Amino acid sequence: MAGSKLKIVPLGGLSEIGKNMMVIEYEDDIIVIDAGLMFPEEEMLGIDLVIPDISYLLERRENIRGILITHGHEDHIGALPYLLPQLDVPVYCTKLTRGLISVKLKERKALAGAKLKVVSPGGGVTLGKFKVEFFPVCHSIPDAVGFIIYTPVGVVVHSGDFKLDYTPVSGKPTDLSRLAQLGTQGVLLLLSDSTYAELQGYTPSERVVGETLDHIMADAPGRVIVTTFSSLISRIQQVIDAAAKHQRRVSVVGRGMREIVRMALSLGYLNAPEGILVRLDELRGVPHNKIVLVTTGSQGEPTSALVRIANRDHQQVRIVPGDTVIISATPIPGNEALVNRTVDDLFKQGARVLYDKVARVHVHGHASQEELKLLLSVVKPKFFVPVHGEYRHLCLHSKVAQSIGISEDNIFVLEDGSILELGPDSGKVTGKVASDNVYVDGLSVGDLGSVVLRDRKMLSRDGIVMVIIAVNRQTGRLVSRPDIISRGFVDIRESKEMIEESRDLVARTLDHRRDRPADWSFINTKVRDVLYRYYYEQTKRRPMILPFMVKV
Ligand SMILES: [Zn+2]
Ligand SMILES: [Zn+2]
Repeated sequence: MAGSKLKIVPLGGLSEIGKNMMVIEYEDDIIVIDAGLMFPEEEMLGIDLVIPDISYLLERRENIRGILITHGHEDHIGALPYLLPQLDVPVYCTKLTRGLISVKLKERKALAGAKLKVVSPGGGVTLGKFKVEFFPVCHSIPDAVGFIIYTPVGVVVHSGDFKLDYTPVSGKPTDLSRLAQLGTQGVLLLLSDSTYAELQGYTPSERVVGETLDHIMADAPGRVIVTTFSSLISRIQQVIDAAAKHQRRVSVVGRGMREIVRMALSLGYLNAPEGILVRLDELRGVPHNKIVLVTTGSQGEPTSALVRIANRDHQQVRIVPGDTVIISATPIPGNEALVNRTVDDLFKQGARVLYDKVARVHVHGHASQEELKLLLSVVKPKFFVPVHGEYRHLCLHSKVAQSIGISEDNIFVLEDGSILELGPDSGKVTGKVASDNVYVDGLSVGDLGSVVLRDRKMLSRDGIVMVIIAVNRQTGRLVSRPDIISRGFVDIRESKEMIEESRDLVARTLDHRRDRPADWSFINTKVRDVLYRYYYEQTKRRPMILPFMVKV
């Protein structure tokens, strides 16, 4: 069928950081790149996670040839435990990524039946009319890849998350020569990581962190407690290396992280000298200046080991003077307040705390502007779509592309749900598909809509007012003055008058209707309207108002 277009449909990760998911479609073949989650923003009260809306994929389930995963970070694999049971398609990824996905799936009891296929960096797979080649990229986790996708319309390159570190801790540097080769043959479209498009220059090498850790381990008078993401395997390696150099033993605190460390060791992505990794209870009697603890909690997650330690709530670890805590991660936007609180608590317990603002204990894993330029100039794509980032990151990345000579007409700043249709010489945004947030709250996925969130927001901000209205079963008349109970709204002692006045107000409102039997929906709406207005006038607050009718 001549003239069919290639469709590019991002379902997540554009105009937001997290829940990356990209659909590439040609006729009746679909491949999906990444299936990530996003941690909730502060106003998403009580929500555990956010995942992409896959209604578009569910409607075309029989066309999906596979899900390709770039690397094992949560924002690329975290939605798999929720989506795989619905889609039941094979997942293609590198070995370490498969290990991390298995750990995730096992946690959610979704491992059975999952088809996880390993492709090594440099290898490839044919999926319908697509031929996909995995090329190594450097990122803050080993075994990260980007994809070269041969389609009937042209070659598409997806960078995944990447940077151009020439001295990575583990894993390979980004394979620029392969991309350059491709560039000379002609690339239709480049999709490239925009997370750090705001930063000028180059991203520092991971080596910098290694040196800092080395100095800290040498000088720290007591224990060194390092916290990072459990998937930052290269960082864990650096901690082990620095500890070994200074004859410190390392204990991994927290079940989730221990699980990942065990997996990475067994697959050979982590290397530890014999006897250096020990259980917490094996550290009894070891001098504090020979101890390193590694934990999660770099985002201030309330249930993490570090936050428990900071709150003196951890079973085995208490901060003592002399302890040094290293927060080797940057807070994900939205988590800053939680992280700052944890840092404060640790200081209060007497620890020395080192974090990215005061020491070089973290470098991020994404390309800065000069690296982005380099990739664009090497690949020389006809069309360009910046991916992975808030709207401003995408815009700045687009400017970077223009600066190296890609015409603005050939750059598409898309948002989640946009449909971009590409021919060999032209591209056009032709529509939009559903791409809302899907909320995961405890055990329920997706059945929690924005109404529930709005209610939670209202309750948390302005509290709740319950109005108890007793009416005569026969006549429908008020039996007594309505009762009002409130929580989290106003101080009852100070606002006694206002509450009394509002009881009268409800009574007067309902008394007008003495001729009519008790019509519940009328009473419900009327009482809410009247009280909303009254309370707002009095307090400029909007509590949730819940009328109850009791028939006596
Ligand atoms: Zn990543
Ligand atoms: Zn990412």
